[in-house]
Amino acid sequence: MTSFDIGTLLNFNPPIALCLKCKALWFKSTSSERISRCPVCGVIYRPGDTYSYWQPYKFLTNEGHGIAFENPVAHGQRLAAIAYNFNKRSIDYPPMRAILESISAARQFVHFTTFGLSHALFGALKLKAQTTTIRGIAANLHSDFAREISDYRNEAPRLELKVYERNNTGNDSGNIPHQKLIVIDGLLAFKGAANMTNEGLRKAAVGRDHIEVVTNIEEVVTLHNKLFSPIWSESSDQKTIVMDDIPF
Ligand SMILES: [Zn+2]
Repeated sequence: MTSFDIGTLLNFNPPIALCLKCKALWFKSTSSERISRCPVCGVIYRPGDTYSYWQPYKFLTNEGHGIAFENPVAHGQRLAAIAYNFNKRSIDYPPMRAILESISAARQFVHFTTFGLSHALFGALKLKAQTTTIRGIAANLHSDFAREISDYRNEAPRLELKVYERNNTGNDSGNIPHQKLIVIDGLLAFKGAANMTNEGLRKAAVGRDHIEVVTNIEEVVTLHNKLFSPIWSESSDQKTIVMDDIPF
């Protein structure tokens, strides 16, 4: 028998904004602890002509870094159904299907970090990026991807990738990210050892690789801010962000 605490519906407290620099997920703070400094990358949000010191959320929302859903309950239910089906480990609902359905269901953003990326999943991400922002940290890519990423970025401008390749960047292997995480809208995550490759996800389907779904929002945010954001922002030494409207 499964149990469900209806009181938890009142505690639905999803992250409400992303840090402009490191894309860390921010929960709403209480009025006594207004955030003016990103708790993950440390960048300081300074008041500018447009926003006062207590308005970082308004600033971030106007910069396209707010997180809000038209119908949060329905969206949460859809993502919860994916997790439920995934956890049944049915032959009819393999990990690849859960990942594809999750990407398809995203409303605000998809963030991922992977050591390897298949062309099939890259195509799915490009398709989704026509409507939704996707940010990825990708290492160990096949050489075919070099031109795909550098020459055809304009086919999916909302797909932002940070690529780590030993040969291209001079990274030594110890510096190349190896963590695996996919985060959908700050509400659902997949973690484990399987990469975003056909082989990795299909091995996971038969118990030869590992991937788990995470539905606890606090854990999703903790994983995201630990595994994704520090790598995303490591090439930037920006210390402060002045809260003015940034012209396009
Ligand atoms: Zn940050």
